[in-house]
Amino acid sequence: MSNALGLEVKTIVETPPEEVERVKEWINTDEYKEKNFARQALVINPAHACQPLGAQLAAHGFEGTLPFVHGSQGCASYYRSTLNRHFREPAPAVSDAMTEDGAVFGGQNNLHEGLENAYAIYKPKMIAVFTSCMPEVIGDDLTAFIKNAKQKGFVPKEMPVPYANTPSFSGTHINGYDSMLLSILQNLTEGKQIEGRCTGKLNLIPGCDFNTGDYREYKRILEAFGIPYTVLADISDSFDSPCDGNYHLYAGGTKLDDAADSINCKATIAIGSYSTAKTFGWVKDNFSGKHASLPMPMGIEKTDAFIMKVAELFGKDVPASLKNERGRAVDAITDSHQYIHGKKFAVYGDPDYLMGYVSFLLEVGARPHHILCSRGNKKVEKDLQALLDGSPFGQGCKIYMNKDLWHLRSLLMTDPVDGIIGDSHGKFAARDAKVPLFRFGFPIFDRVNKHRYPLIGYQGAINMMTEICNKFIDIKDDTCEDRLFELMR
Ligand code: SF4
Repeated sequence: MSNALGLEVKTIVETPPEEVERVKEWINTDEYKEKNFARQALVINPAHACQPLGAQLAAHGFEGTLPFVHGSQGCASYYRSTLNRHFREPAPAVSDAMTEDGAVFGGQNNLHEGLENAYAIYKPKMIAVFTSCMPEVIGDDLTAFIKNAKQKGFVPKEMPVPYANTPSFSGTHINGYDSMLLSILQNLTEGKQIEGRCTGKLNLIPGCDFNTGDYREYKRILEAFGIPYTVLADISDSFDSPCDGNYHLYAGGTKLDDAADSINCKATIAIGSYSTAKTFGWVKDNFSGKHASLPMPMGIEKTDAFIMKVAELFGKDVPASLKNERGRAVDAITDSHQYIHGKKFAVYGDPDYLMGYVSFLLEVGARPHHILCSRGNKKVEKDLQALLDGSPFGQGCKIYMNKDLWHLRSLLMTDPVDGIIGDSHGKFAARDAKVPLFRFGFPIFDRVNKHRYPLIGYQGAINMMTEICNKFIDIKDDTCEDRLFELMR
């Protein structure tokens, strides 16, 4: 073999084509699956992102807020590009770009210079600071650093600068979201509780949800009830703002005054018990009014639970428009259930999304055959198992906790399913297994506008059902014999 200069190059390892073919076949076998599931010290294609990425999402949900990464520039680029590719919108954030000297001497100088520049250039109303791994490894003291920054006048003393420790070597983006949201609420509501005051509003905490359509759907439901609300944190306009020819650095977000007053609410509902665990725990102890934590309202049953809880908290009847909507969703499911009934699925993703997918599938008579969570705990497993145990369609389905998408591939090749539900990262395994991937969740890089279609609520149930069933009908049309190619399906 010769190189571009025509010089002979000795091939160090040559793999004969037949060996490549043999291995290609072998990785689809039970023998390989056993070895794959025995691996311990290596993760391949995990179905989660870094803690700070979730923190950045929470920060974008507040008016005039600049997300600030204390740590490595490369990490910051990763969060920004991931959000940017999913939403196809800018995800403006800054980083103090720590390098080797910061790692040795601590990152205070970087943080101070960064805060000074960020405030001067981008004029934010709030700067939300969170960390990448490097400052966490060396133990940077954010409390002291930010206090010093205010004392030295790098940012105004009165400007809120909430901060969260978000080390990615423990937890995932949902934990980063939770920590950042908690810190923002603690900061904004400090000293704002007024004895006897009630805003009459509902605080809705949607959790670490990357679907802007879901946020709009929650708001639409609450407006149908005629209930005043504050969404904490509202990313719907931040990542789905109108194209009007101008760039808006801070598009949308919950008003800081509303967030500050949220402590005097009538009630709070936190969605997603895994991505809002810390926040909800603190809200329960500190916010006035009543509090409830609910799973993502995916499918009819979970949406009913959400609607009934809203009605109960505010002593209102369910509006006729929502009752009609429920009826239409049930009708849509009845009209199409035959295309999904009994089908086997593999599902993966965040615990809160997983609970929603599994609940929805069981409800429509499908089987969530492989359920894979790449970072979860015993509680997630127990809650998922309880869903499976509560339905005849859950029998024989299995939960794989702390496993990655390479494990998923082995499952798909040795114990096939009809479809997969998850984010774009599963497309490679789906292609190998020759089954459709239904792209719900985060991130979705390879399809457009998916984040605009709600998955929650009755409308979300119709959307999921329509997408899944039509795909199965497409497959039938594409693969059936000519004599079975029908106009009616
Ligand atoms: S794991 Fe840590 S170092 Fe790697 S991208 Fe995430 S935050 Fe940065």
